[in-house]
Order: sequence, then C-alpha cells, then structure tokens
Amino acid sequence: MSNDCIFCKIVEKKSSADIIFDGGDTLFFNDISPKAATHILAIPKKHIISLSTLVADDHAVIGKLIHDIGHVAEEAGLEEGGYRVISNVGSNAGQAVAHLHFHILGGEPLGPLRC
Ligand code: AMP
Ligand code: ZN
Repeated sequence: MSNDCIFCKIVEKKSSADIIFDGGDTLFFNDISPKAATHILAIPKKHIISLSTLVADDHAVIGKLIHDIGHVAEEAGLEEGGYRVISNVGSNAGQAVAHLHFHILGGEPLGPLRC
C-alpha cells in the first residue's frame, strides 16, 4: 500500500470505483475516462509501480493477473470481437498512475493505439 496512490486507495476501499471483478490478489474496475466502448483496468492489489519494477516474488501474481484478464474479458463479452491489452511503463509511454495496470480495451473496432 502506498498512501498517495489512487489505485491503492481503491483496493483499500478508501476511494470508490466501478469494480467488476475481485480475484483476491487482483482487482478489475472500469476506467473513469474510457477510451473505448469497454475500457477495464486490471491491477494487482499489491503496490507494484510498473512492469519495470517487478521482482521474483511478483511473478505469481502477475501470472494470475494475466489469467484473470482473459476471464474478465470473456465475461465482459469481448472474446468474440477481440480486444487489446496495454500496460504503459514510465514517462515516454505516458504512465499517469504509478501502480501497475493493464488497460483492457474492446467492444468496438479499436484502430490505432489509444492508451
Ligand atoms: P496510464 O496513463 O496508463 O497510467 O492510465 C491511467 C488510467 O487510469 C487512465 O486511463 C485514467 O483514466 C484511469 N484512472 C485514473 N484514476 C482513476 C480512478 N479513480 N478510477 C478509474 N480509473 C482511473
Ligand atoms: Zn498503489
């Protein structure tokens, strides 16, 4: 938990979010500013800054997160039409929230990258 992290606050229920799946050590909620018809954020509950700061102890939860992404995408009806998964890392990618997250985008033809 990082005190000034908005996603940690969502995990701790100190900030509200439109949560759609709780995988125990993972959490899925709708993006507050959707860039596609369906735009879900997938996070580990543990405060990990980005893919560039992973340590060996994180490997299991990241594997679980990837697995849960497939499950949530299917439940959200994205399987048939297809979807895109993106994780921004650092400033060149425009990472705005320093808590590892994957964007799940779908529900319409996506065209070029959006996140
Ligand atoms: P990134 O630029 O990859 O760090 O993306 C951060 C994403 O978090 C953006 O798409 C924001 O719209 C989204 N976001 C920021 N705050 C919240 C929040 N409180 N609830 C849901 N999504 C959020
Ligand atoms: Zn955090």
